Amino acid sequence: MTNTNIEKVAIYLRKSRQEEGMSDEETLHKHRKELVDLVESKGWQYDIFQEVGTSQDIEYRPEFSKLMERIKAGYYSAVVAIELSRISRGSESLVIVEKFQERNVIIVTPNKTYDPNNESDKTLIEAELFGSRLEYQFIKKRLNEGKKRSARMGQWTNGVAPIGYRYNRDTKKLEIREDESETIRLIYDLYLDGQSQHEIGFELNRRGITTRNGAFYQSATIGRILRNPVYIGSVVYGKSEGSGHLHKKSKPLQFKDESKWIRVDDAHPAIVGKEQFNEVQRQLKKRDKIPSRAKAGTFTTSGLLKCGKCGGSLPYRRRKLASGNYVVYVHSCGHMDVYGNRCTNSGIRLDFILKHVKNEVDRYENELTSNRTDGQEVTKNRIQRKINGLKKEIDNMNGAFDRIKKLFINGMIDENEMNEEAESVRNKLDAKNYELREARREYDEVSDESNHLKLQRIAKLKEHFDEMNPESKKANELLKELIERITFEREGNQINIDVEFL
Ligand SMILES: [Zn+2]
Repeated sequence: MTNTNIEKVAIYLRKSRQEEGMSDEETLHKHRKELVDLVESKGWQYDIFQEVGTSQDIEYRPEFSKLMERIKAGYYSAVVAIELSRISRGSESLVIVEKFQERNVIIVTPNKTYDPNNESDKTLIEAELFGSRLEYQFIKKRLNEGKKRSARMGQWTNGVAPIGYRYNRDTKKLEIREDESETIRLIYDLYLDGQSQHEIGFELNRRGITTRNGAFYQSATIGRILRNPVYIGSVVYGKSEGSGHLHKKSKPLQFKDESKWIRVDDAHPAIVGKEQFNEVQRQLKKRDKIPSRAKAGTFTTSGLLKCGKCGGSLPYRRRKLASGNYVVYVHSCGHMDVYGNRCTNSGIRLDFILKHVKNEVDRYENELTSNRTDGQEVTKNRIQRKINGLKKEIDNMNGAFDRIKKLFINGMIDENEMNEEAESVRNKLDAKNYELREARREYDEVSDESNHLKLQRIAKLKEHFDEMNPESKKANELLKELIERITFEREGNQINIDVEFL
């Protein structure tokens, strides 16, 4: 198992069976310390997720939901727990292990590291959580059949209850959550009042209404809420199978034919009336048909030009001149933040930006050419020595954690002193790791191969780049091989253009 590409990890903690002679709190504290020591000894960055409650059920584990959201967003390369069963056990763990697999997240415990993408590790996970692989497959099959059966009875089997509802474990059905259901009604009302999904999102954010995880409402979330028949009391199961990501080991996401869905109406209390819901569906279809702003073609800076104020992509407009020719403008930004406030960045003629890009490319070419000297080998060797030195220092610092711990165990320092020492080592370690990353980047930069390649690309670009042609597809392709992004910011006559090379 190689842990070399682990950068950031999540420590997950919740109460487990007490250890002898310790209270719940003490046990948790001990586990926390053990895991923090573990990740620090490896030099990993970390966030801690600690449940307050004791529930096994994901729905009542808010920290775990937060953690899963972050995992889906690609924040972490590993989850660290005191033992496998702390993350999950039983049927739920099926889903969780698959999510980890999709995101290439490994599980680290003090005793063992598990990589769900490694077949033998996966068998181990299955064995530890279910007893054996056979049992795992049996449970999986039974679970699917059981889910279908439950769905036919109008029970909720689709995971965490949708916003507006809570899952009742006794009836296995959904029941209304008053605090959240008001938001659902508000969303439906605003939509029928003529507001768009975007506008509804802004309105909720302005009112300080957030999703269950404390996130801002996005128009896509509003769209899903407006289309979800759960809000008229229906349960729909089996719309799709497989998962929607590109990992080759899992089935691709497929939507099943509607005739194969299991749909039960009046399965639980409705939040929205059927008439209102149907009217919303009718309007969703109608409003969908209004063509969105006609898609402009490819411009020379398409996909590269970003707003310097808000980071959004900037829109282009063609304008016809008296001569009959077209001129392309970068339009003012107008991008809206989550509250609906418009970005105020102004626009400019695109050829103005292209001229600047041309100058920057020339400057960059000169810089690369002047770097190609005999001195380059010397520079590379110097940086390599620096990298080696840094690696050694980092290894020593990792060892320092153990030494500090030993001092504490031997009574040479107290707990406060130990924590202070560890904190200071951690800060130094962060700084050294940063230096190491910078040195590696520097090494790549002076490396002849990459310079040579870049110079070739520049030469090719120059064949096709004409700052007076704002709609060159070829120049756009070549620019993308050379440039990471171009940011543009304008306040009156104050103009700022920044070209970032790859
Ligand atoms: Zn902007």
